[in-house]
Amino acid sequence: MNKVIVLNNRPEGRPEDSDFKFTEEEKPKPQNGEVLLKTKYVSVDPYLRGRMRDQKSYIEPFKLHEPLVSGIIAEVVESKNDDFKEGDFVNGMLAWKEFQTNNGKNIQKVDPDQAPLSAYLGAVGMTGLTAYFGLTHIGKPKKGDTIVVSGAAGAVGSIVGQIGKINDCRVIGIAGTDEKIALLKEEFGFDEGINYKTTDNMQEAISNLAPDGVDIYFDNVGGEISDAVLQNIARGARVVVCGAISVYNNEKMPVGPRVTPILIKNSVLMQGFTVGDFQSEFNNGMKQLATWLQEDKIMHKETIVKGFENIPQAFIDLFDGKNSGKMIVEV
Ligand code: NAP
Repeated sequence: MNKVIVLNNRPEGRPEDSDFKFTEEEKPKPQNGEVLLKTKYVSVDPYLRGRMRDQKSYIEPFKLHEPLVSGIIAEVVESKNDDFKEGDFVNGMLAWKEFQTNNGKNIQKVDPDQAPLSAYLGAVGMTGLTAYFGLTHIGKPKKGDTIVVSGAAGAVGSIVGQIGKINDCRVIGIAGTDEKIALLKEEFGFDEGINYKTTDNMQEAISNLAPDGVDIYFDNVGGEISDAVLQNIARGARVVVCGAISVYNNEKMPVGPRVTPILIKNSVLMQGFTVGDFQSEFNNGMKQLATWLQEDKIMHKETIVKGFENIPQAFIDLFDGKNSGKMIVEV
């Protein structure tokens, strides 16, 4: 039998175990033109929370009682498709199933010699590309700029900070534990770090570390952390609005201070984006990230959770900051 995880309820507030259900089905058999895939690594990502709501967005909501879907690295264990052979590894948006068939149209082969397989879900995959395109194309870093990154010790944030350093910027990271702050400075090469959970006055803490203002704010979390950064924004700054995990579980969107006067008087550009906006440039981005990884100019960190049955909990743990770097489930 084949294990499958479906969406049992649409979460209200913080997702819970009971929002997910484990079911079983017959192990599928590939038809002509298809491959049989065995799930190896599963990406759990904050944006999946948005897909659990029944509302229109840039991506379709999940259907109730149907399998959840995320970035997955799988092994081809049987092939009736000439483009794939047994033993190939592929990356695709695939279902939370131990085994599944696929017609080969929405999966891409990945090369384990170019980067570790799990990195195709992180540093050289979706989150790495988000960091790369968000920072370079919207943030447009210049030598000497001061960059503030929120969610700095996570999958996107840790790569943003390292690309900031490659561009000779001064990088300040915001994260939720002292261990993460040490990681930012000692392993990812950030210049400074602020633990938002133990800092009473975030606005003042940022001002102390960035007395001339913040030239680029790469925002992964939104909410009050972003309110504090925006009070310190420099003239001509760029605000890269990547994510807002601090409000993803809110049923009602909290109201913050009005930011438009700050943007006007400082001539600030504030731009939201999704990584898919840069789809036509993905190959170049992946090559650049893989090269930096091979040259040790960026390091990728992962929190690997083992076991298919732990996929939902690994997802829930993102909201408690249990991960450093990319949260991945190894099946
Ligand atoms: P991640 O940062 O690896 O994991 C989430 C982290 O968010 C946690 O480790 C936690 O770290 C922090 N967090 C959780 N609740 C928080 C809260 N209430 N306030 C502040 N921080 C909180 O996740 P990721 O995959 O790299 O994604 C980061 C952000 O980018 C998310 O908002 C995500 O939706 C967004 N994103 C956007 C795109 C796009 O195309 N625009 C693509 C990928 C990701 P702490 O311990 O520091 O709290």
